[in-house]
Amino acid sequence: MNVLVINAGSSSLKYQLLDVDTREVYAKGNCERIGIDGSFVGHEELGGEKQKLEVELPDHKTAIKYVFDILKTVDKPIGGIGHRVVQGGWYFPESAVVTDETLAWVREVAPLAPLHNYAEADVIEICRDMFPEIGNVIVPDTAFHYNMPERAWRYALPRDVVDKYHVRKYGAHGTSHRFIWRSTKELLGDKCHKLVSCHLGSGASLCAIEDGACMDTTMGLTPLDGLIMGTRCGTLDPATVFYLNRVGGYSIDDIDTMMNKQSGLLAVSGVSSDSRDVEDGAAKGDANCQMALDMFYYRTSQLIAEMAASMEGFDTMVFTAGIGENSDEMRAGVAERLGWMGVKIDPEKNAGRASEPRVISADDSAVTVLVVPTNEEYMIALDVEELLG
Ligand code: AMP
Repeated sequence: MNVLVINAGSSSLKYQLLDVDTREVYAKGNCERIGIDGSFVGHEELGGEKQKLEVELPDHKTAIKYVFDILKTVDKPIGGIGHRVVQGGWYFPESAVVTDETLAWVREVAPLAPLHNYAEADVIEICRDMFPEIGNVIVPDTAFHYNMPERAWRYALPRDVVDKYHVRKYGAHGTSHRFIWRSTKELLGDKCHKLVSCHLGSGASLCAIEDGACMDTTMGLTPLDGLIMGTRCGTLDPATVFYLNRVGGYSIDDIDTMMNKQSGLLAVSGVSSDSRDVEDGAAKGDANCQMALDMFYYRTSQLIAEMAASMEGFDTMVFTAGIGENSDEMRAGVAERLGWMGVKIDPEKNAGRASEPRVISADDSAVTVLVVPTNEEYMIALDVEELLG
């Protein structure tokens, strides 16, 4: 089955057309600056060069129409469309076929992720209206975490507040963590029961997975919680918000922007949110870049131990996403701080990037450590095939 995977943002729309059976990607691209001057599409087809196509994209509807037009050249009939939805809220324990009801749920929970869910719901509706013969599936990034134990998802806030506002840990990157479990299990079989999945990209989260079930994760009500990320601060004392508001005079919106867009590696290094620049800076002796790396190793290793504690141990740890797949320095830095737990990386196996899954731990490591390239689009396409095929 050929599946079109769509990942819509407020001003962008990523797409990928792939064959679920062969995993072959026929075409992929990104419509950027939708509704803004200077919109364009970066498009790439199997075996071809990446092209930059300058097209006017005043709205998402025009973008989708353009994507379907451009995909005609590939000449692969689309059997279903999978939509990545950032926030499934209290409705989606798993992916679901689009109906009036499920689409309404995406909009109902949108206040939890207003920058994403509204645009995603609009795009789903447009696809359904323009191509009624093709089925659509909602794949929420939170679904994998939906059934984690109550002790993990519940916040120690008054029950009436939790109930009325649905304040709880939802997590994110669920589709990636689910893919990591699946791929690692395929590789290790019976040797893998308690896995800590480390999705380290510009957004970063960990997930404790026991026999395929999410036991805890580091992101919370929103993706701001947990690890230090490219531009997000991760966990800090919630009273910091009151203090900055009352004493610093920052508005709630200012603090939202500060913590989500101006913090993390960017703020500590003073150089960049990109880990490559921070690593380069540290190598040249920049003390702020070195501190950013030290803090990243420190917090990531601390939270890996927290994830392990939520399962009362772990036998497997997997690095994935932009940093996890590409930076042997980051993997080594994090793993080094976990030596006391029996984690031991083999420097030779760790060296270099990962285009294929591989084990990077030493033979006598108490925990098997792997690097596995994530593939959220494939996971989404699999769900589409399962629900529509
Ligand atoms: P993602 O959000 O998964 O696309 O990851 C993006 C981040 O991965 C970038 O901001 C970089 O910090 C990091 N990254 C990507 N490629 C490399 C690389 N070759 N070496 C080190 N870090 C990388």
